[in-house]
Amino acid sequence: MTDLEGKMNHPMVGVPLDKLKPKKVRKQIDLTLWEKLYVPEVLRGLGITTKHFASNMLGFVKPPKGKKRSVFTVYYPEERVTLPAAYRGRPVLVAREDGTEKCVACGLCEKICPAAAISIVAGEREDSERYPLTYSLDMARCVYCGYCEEVCPKEAIVMSAEYEGLAERDRSQLLYTKERLLRSEESVRGRIEYIRRIYSKCNY
Ligand code: SF4
Ligand code: SF4
Repeated sequence: MTDLEGKMNHPMVGVPLDKLKPKKVRKQIDLTLWEKLYVPEVLRGLGITTKHFASNMLGFVKPPKGKKRSVFTVYYPEERVTLPAAYRGRPVLVAREDGTEKCVACGLCEKICPAAAISIVAGEREDSERYPLTYSLDMARCVYCGYCEEVCPKEAIVMSAEYEGLAERDRSQLLYTKERLLRSEESVRGRIEYIRRIYSKCNY
């Protein structure tokens, strides 16, 4: 995963990928006599498992101040991962600085959505600009494909990094209205810059 500076990082833990290179794979598959004895290999396997178990358990111990923990476990919800810009979480509507939506209710996202999750009723302001009178997104149907974001000519709907509250017992809670979907442009700035790069948009 490439971050904004162009470095290759692990998407979840931000560790440079060259530090996570896999070890050499043994390609010879004929078993040696030692391996055919079976028990030594079982004991070796148990040893490896025990080693990882112990190192992971010790990794839970809080390290001294200034030192990093040696395990990659994230203690959610106390700790949060920084998701890469490529992550596709809940689609959200982008608001202008004055709080109004950038959406012009063209209906392209509604048309392209393969899950028929979007429903728009268009309205017109006094200056004849179109806007969504209502905009609803059924998150119980959304498949996070990102087509709505890709097709939007106004960068008015983007895939945010929001991943909480995507499951509810009551399906009606997953029906998002325009008001629930609106986010400031600043809060999704990273994603907007990312889609400008990947979709080569020229509408800014
Ligand atoms: S991400 Fe895909 S499924 Fe979800 S609202 Fe957008 S187009 Fe529809
Ligand atoms: S494609 Fe964009 S501008 Fe058009 S209705 Fe959807 S969010 Fe609004």
